[in-house]
Amino acid sequence: MAKDIFVFVELKEGAVRKVSLELLSKGKEIAGHFSSSLYAVLIGHNVKGIAATVQPYSDKVIVIDNEGLAEYRWDTYASVLEGILRKYNPYAVLGGSTVTGKDLFPRLAARFGSAIVSDAVGIDFHDSGIKIKKPLFGGKVISWITCSEDSAIFITFRPNSFGIEKGSLNGEVIEEQFEAAKDPKMNLAGTEKHVSEKVDLQEADFIICGGRGMKGPEHFQVLEEIAGIMGGRVGASRAVVDSKWREYEDQVGKSGKTVSPKLYIGCGISGALHHTMGMDTSKVIVAINKDPNAPIFHYADYGIVDDAFAVLPVLREALKKTREEI
Ligand SMILES: Cc1cc2nc3c(=O)[nH]c(=O)nc-3n(C[C@H](O)[C@H](O)[C@H](O)COP(=O)(O)OP(=O)(O)OC[C@H]3O[C@@H](n4cnc5c(N)ncnc54)[C@H](O)[C@@H]3O)c2cc1C
Repeated sequence: MAKDIFVFVELKEGAVRKVSLELLSKGKEIAGHFSSSLYAVLIGHNVKGIAATVQPYSDKVIVIDNEGLAEYRWDTYASVLEGILRKYNPYAVLGGSTVTGKDLFPRLAARFGSAIVSDAVGIDFHDSGIKIKKPLFGGKVISWITCSEDSAIFITFRPNSFGIEKGSLNGEVIEEQFEAAKDPKMNLAGTEKHVSEKVDLQEADFIICGGRGMKGPEHFQVLEEIAGIMGGRVGASRAVVDSKWREYEDQVGKSGKTVSPKLYIGCGISGALHHTMGMDTSKVIVAINKDPNAPIFHYADYGIVDDAFAVLPVLREALKKTREEI
């Protein structure tokens, strides 16, 4: 049986999310290994034009375009995907460990009675199949998971787990039909969109996070300036969010967002397990803390034991100068 790989393409404001391109890039490598095909699955309304964005990354692009799919709803999206997956019978289905992915993938796995690995960070080959890398116990243990291949394996990956390779394919577009239920059990009365100008926290390559050691909301200005220079995003610990210094959308950790940027800088953050569970897969971790025994230093690749208020202005000026010189 061909070991075809499917990637659920997630859209945000009508554009393909970065995590989907990351998964397609990795999916190409996996499909190449098995000499199988890589499929991108694009669901929504007025999405045919978006197929061009994923064609360079896929062998085939399945498009299901229907008015009833304009908004993400678990019932319609799960039904559509179930039908597609039963028809094409892929080996593995990849999606982002995003709000949508976390909602949709377990439902699909349950419908197929299949294995699901959520919040994974890597993938490799094992015997004749794959093994999936997933942090456990707040990142204290890294597990490699193999799954029964009786039916499709469902996997959600943290954004930034893989790089985006330049797409060189020209995927054939396959249009599939979807009949919206005439009498749906649930109707979406409306949505309220929270409009944010900020870079998506989970997709940011650079995150500078402030903790209680930043002493107050006014001191986050220097973090904003550094994030601006780096084209990244400011994050926060829960202590900061609970103190109403920052919005919940900035929170990193167990009850906030799980992030995996190329560079994470933690300023005045102790490194409590609930925080580190959300950032310990960052590629490079820098900690600035005046307490040399702060747990964050166990996770840090580089540590600065000093007063954040002394370090941050110097860092900002150095980064500004470096950027100007480039
Ligand atoms: C169920 C549950 C879920 C949770 N979820 C989350 C979550 O999602 N995210 C999260 O972050 N937390 C979460 N927490 C809370 C978590 O356990 C910690 O309480 C929290 O992360 C601490 O935040 P902090 O590091 O900013 O503050 P603190 O622990 O108070 O640490 C402040 C640090 O700043 C340093 N400091 C002080 N002044 C300076 C200075 N001038 N310069 C440099 N360093 C300085 C101190 O040495 C200290 O290490 C959760 C807790 C529970 C129970």
